[in-house]
Amino acid sequence: MLRLSNIRVRNVATVGGCLAHGDPHMDLPPVLIALGAYVSVAGSQGERKIAVESLFAGYFETVLEKNELISELHIPAQGKSCAAYMKVTTGSAEDWPALGVAVSLTRDGAAIRSARVVVSAATEKAMRLGAAEQVLAGAEIGERTFGRAGEAAAAEVECISDVRGSAPYKRELVRVFVARALHQALDGTGATH
Ligand SMILES: Cc1cc2nc3c(=O)[nH]c(=O)nc-3n(C[C@H](O)[C@H](O)[C@H](O)COP(=O)(O)OP(=O)(O)OC[C@H]3O[C@@H](n4cnc5c(N)ncnc54)[C@H](O)[C@@H]3O)c2cc1C
Repeated sequence: MLRLSNIRVRNVATVGGCLAHGDPHMDLPPVLIALGAYVSVAGSQGERKIAVESLFAGYFETVLEKNELISELHIPAQGKSCAAYMKVTTGSAEDWPALGVAVSLTRDGAAIRSARVVVSAATEKAMRLGAAEQVLAGAEIGERTFGRAGEAAAAEVECISDVRGSAPYKRELVRVFVARALHQALDGTGATH
C-alpha cells in the first residue's frame, strides 16, 4: 500500500478520477479489472453500467462521453478467490510503474478453476491477457503452470517503450512478474506487494 503513490496523492485522489483519467500507469485499474469491478456512469441520457475492463479505449482514453460522470464503483463479492497485485518500478519504489500485474484466481482443489490476468503501465491501457488466462483455466497449481502462463502472457502482450524501459524489456518483465503474481496470490501472502 505504501508504494501506491505518495501520501498527498492518496489523501486527495478519488477513485472516479483515477478511472476517468485513463492513465495506464495507475495502480487501481488493473486491480479492479482483476476483481471484475464495474462502474455506474451518470449522463444526460440517464445511467449506464460499464465493466472497468471495458472502460479504457486507449492511451489516456476512455469510452466515457464528455457529459458523463462515474458515480459509483461496484466490486462483486470475491468468495474464495485469491488475488495479488505487483507493481514493478524501474526508478524509485513509489515511482510510476514500468509494469503493473494483477491476478485473481478461483481454485478447485489442486487445480485452478478460472483466472483473470491483467497488465498495465507496460501497455497502452490496462488489459486482460486472454491467452495466459486460458493456460491457467483447469491447470494444476504449481510453478510449472505459473511459468507457462508467464510465457503465454509475454507472447500475447503488446508493450510500449518509454523512459521506464523498452518494449522488449517490459515483455520480459511481463513473463517474470505474471508468474510471480500467480505465486503470490496462491501462496496467500496478501493482495499488494
Ligand atoms: C505526484 C503524483 C504521484 C502519483 N502517483 C500515483 C501512483 O503511484 N499510483 C496511482 O495509481 N496514481 C498515482 N497518481 C495519480 C493519481 O492517482 C491521480 O492523479 C488521481 O487518481 C486522479 O484522481 P483525482 O480525483 O485527483 O482526479 P482529477 O485529477 O480531478 O481528474 C482526472 C480526470 O478525470 C476527470 N474526472 C474526475 N472525476 C471524475 C468522475 N467521477 N467521473 C468522470 N470524470 C472524472 C477529470 O475531469 C479529469 O479529466 C499520482 C499523481 C501525482 C500528481
